[in-house]
Amino acid sequence: MDRRSRVRAALLEAFGEPPSENVPLSALSSFGIGGPADLFLEVRTEGELMKAVALASGESYPFYLIGGGSNLLFDDAGYRGLIIRNRLEGLSREENRLNVLSGTGLADIMREALAAGLSGLEFLAGIPGTLGGAVYGNAGAYGWSVGDVVAWATVLIPGGERRTMSRASLGFGYRDSALKRYRGIVLRASLICSPGDSRRSEAKIREILEKRRTKHPPLGTACAGSYFKNSSSETGARIAAGQLLEQAGARGMAVGDAAVSAVHCNFIVNTGNARAADVLRLADELKERVFRMFGIRLEEEVIYLRADASMF
Ligand SMILES: Cc1cc2nc3c(=O)[nH]c(=O)nc-3n(C[C@H](O)[C@H](O)[C@H](O)COP(=O)(O)OP(=O)(O)OC[C@H]3O[C@@H](n4cnc5c(N)ncnc54)[C@H](O)[C@@H]3O)c2cc1C
Repeated sequence: MDRRSRVRAALLEAFGEPPSENVPLSALSSFGIGGPADLFLEVRTEGELMKAVALASGESYPFYLIGGGSNLLFDDAGYRGLIIRNRLEGLSREENRLNVLSGTGLADIMREALAAGLSGLEFLAGIPGTLGGAVYGNAGAYGWSVGDVVAWATVLIPGGERRTMSRASLGFGYRDSALKRYRGIVLRASLICSPGDSRRSEAKIREILEKRRTKHPPLGTACAGSYFKNSSSETGARIAAGQLLEQAGARGMAVGDAAVSAVHCNFIVNTGNARAADVLRLADELKERVFRMFGIRLEEEVIYLRADASMF
């Protein structure tokens, strides 16, 4: 038996049903791009997640965990391994904190905070995806990031150990966390809120959603959010990637069905049947233009998952 068959058989034995096979990743990505994953499994408890990771690791079989698939560009060739989709959902309140399982959607977290009369999470309005993905990439908007509100997170590290890490040890930076360098899977995290006024929170959320509506591509556009990170000047001032791209003449550029959004130059959108190769070529051309004009090297915010990558 080859490794794929052994992992399939082990998952069947452990979960009572086999993982799905040859699952199109395009359906699991907000970009709508990606070929088939050899094996695919959804997990709903920490135990299931840990078991799936242990089985794949035990066979040295590649695996990769995804949340909402809203910051990922999958390969045209798909994935030669096991894609695990995190469906660990739920949260509980502990005084002014929300303890949240990592597969919970950011919209649900914000809604629960609002219902509980807690404020501090309004900035999550309009950001798709799960808490785990948001902690990994320190997602945020309008001056706030998830790392600002995380008190601690419980992380599964290679070898199968669970470790509770403080905000400081999670090493948050701009669209960055230590998880990008030291491999780990967020199982749950505690978010710090403060007692609030639901009406004020609602007004803030409406304001944010309105800003996003006017400045971002329309809801439902196939994309993965801002494609590049913002840059910073020698004095540390933030330079918006969208502005650099606009000035470099990015508007209207396209490769195949991958195009620079007409609304915001830092969004690459899939206008039909874009391939990952089209997106990557367009992104390279955009980087090249910005470098030639400003001497600034843009860095991708969207994560490209190669067909042969592995999480651990
Ligand atoms: C329309 C649109 C608007 C967006 N606006 C914003 C915005 O304003 N601000 C912003 O920051 N982002 C934005 N994004 C990007 C995206 O929503 C965030 O990056 C989000 O946090 C990704 O979460 P996810 O669950 O979808 O992660 P995925 O895309 O599934 O995964 C992203 C990465 O996180 C890793 N990951 C996922 N779960 C875990 C876990 N439990 N433990 C460890 N690693 C994990 C994955 O392995 C992968 O490397 C936007 C995207 C879209 C499509």
